Amino acid sequence: MNYISTRNKNIKVSASQAIAQGISKDGGLFVPESIPALSKDDFESLIGMDYPSRAAFVLKRFLTDFTDEEIEYCVKGAYVGNFDNDQPAPLKTIANNEHILELWHGPTCAFKDLALQILPYLLTTSAKKVSGGKETVILVATSGDTGKAALEGFCDVENTKIMVFYPSDGVSAMQKLQMDTQKGENVFVCAIKGNFDDAQTGVKKIFTDNEVAVILEKANMQFSSANSINWGRLAPQIIYYISAYCDLVKEGADLSGGFNVVVPTGNFGNILAAYYAKVMGVRINKLVCASNANNVLTDFINTGVYDRNRKFYTTISPSMDILISSNLERMLFEISGRDDECVAALQKELNDNGKYTVSDEIAAKFRELFYGGCCDDQSTMATIKSTFDECDYLIDTHTAVAVNVYNSYVKNTGDNRPTVIASTASPYKFANSVLEALGAELSGDEFKNAEMLADITNVLMPKPLAALKNAKPRFKNLCEKQDMVDVVLKNLGL
Ligand SMILES: *Cc1c(COP(=O)(O)O)cnc(C)c1O
Repeated sequence: MNYISTRNKNIKVSASQAIAQGISKDGGLFVPESIPALSKDDFESLIGMDYPSRAAFVLKRFLTDFTDEEIEYCVKGAYVGNFDNDQPAPLKTIANNEHILELWHGPTCAFKDLALQILPYLLTTSAKKVSGGKETVILVATSGDTGKAALEGFCDVENTKIMVFYPSDGVSAMQKLQMDTQKGENVFVCAIKGNFDDAQTGVKKIFTDNEVAVILEKANMQFSSANSINWGRLAPQIIYYISAYCDLVKEGADLSGGFNVVVPTGNFGNILAAYYAKVMGVRINKLVCASNANNVLTDFINTGVYDRNRKFYTTISPSMDILISSNLERMLFEISGRDDECVAALQKELNDNGKYTVSDEIAAKFRELFYGGCCDDQSTMATIKSTFDECDYLIDTHTAVAVNVYNSYVKNTGDNRPTVIASTASPYKFANSVLEALGAELSGDEFKNAEMLADITNVLMPKPLAALKNAKPRFKNLCEKQDMVDVVLKNLGL
């Protein structure tokens, strides 16, 4: 199977090339030439498998220029031994028909681990095939969770370097500490004066800068991306939706009308993976796209107008504080019937004017597939409290946005078929907000607060977060957004 650019279908590369390169040269995103379908027999086999075997089964359909041995090596390296109880994505039932897909049992306690534990394996395997020993430089713009998960995944991986940029005031204290204390010889971390979109725009500019490309080429290096624009990030995310479906079947859920999936959304990567799972044959009914106060996607789904010219809010769910959802481009490609010219034109409008309007036909298709909803910080807090009081289940601020929007979806539509809600972070990653939501008195010390949260709720703090208590920050870098290129080149010694 080959991969094509969303902006020009004539650009065609292998899976390894798509992963090694990260983004297409024309600025488009790589998508599979066709989405593979799973048969009834395939699902029957999958239901009997453990998570790593399900992962290998699914990835073999997408990464056709990898050998079976290579895929099994990647999957084993990522999913065996690195997650609590070797359960990367357990499904918990918290109320009738309401299931939580816990995606935060990895080393950094956020769902990004599911993809970023395997990406370094996929990337180094790809680079060996296509770029003949060049050193891969991973550039990451992060709203908090990607950065740490990528640092952890790429730490001391041979023939790679990783550089992470995060908005100085846009991440939680715990996230900042997680990144600034990162170990490894090949890692670099820098805060920027700006928000997540500034960081992401800066990284994209570096990727597509021809002068910089020449300098790297001379040094036998090549950039790649660990952001969800890289297909190697997205493919592993499809696995857990297929896995959740298999688990629902195993539990005997009534799936005669399919099931809904609710995703707290930022860059549109996670919910896009659920869409791909649906196209592959998983019986997903509605895709519920939940946003915080940065509700550009809610408006888009409801009106067909994507408009990033609006106030940017810094919220208590910072990993969703995004006004440009990169992966929406892949969705537009699919929903427009794979019309690359249409996608290229819309992305140009977005770039030039910060805004585009899709045709009535495309808008109607979006509304058929998706339900868009949003909630503010106050409602997020109220949902954390009510979910804990009513279901005896503790959720983080991002998952709370999803639960809140799900509740209003049920209220507005009466649709109470089985539902899987993606839980994207451990509540301890955002301990201050969670504790405040439960009505406790906060102290100024994040760790005291986390310990208090454990006392109040009897929910254990994940080990990787508990270990940060005595860690000393190693990186203290801060730069202007326009200086990112210089920082990158200087750090590479170029
Ligand atoms: C990254 C992230 C999100 C948003 O996911 P997207 O794939 O960017 O839509 C939501 N919650 C948490 C905790 C995250 O880290």
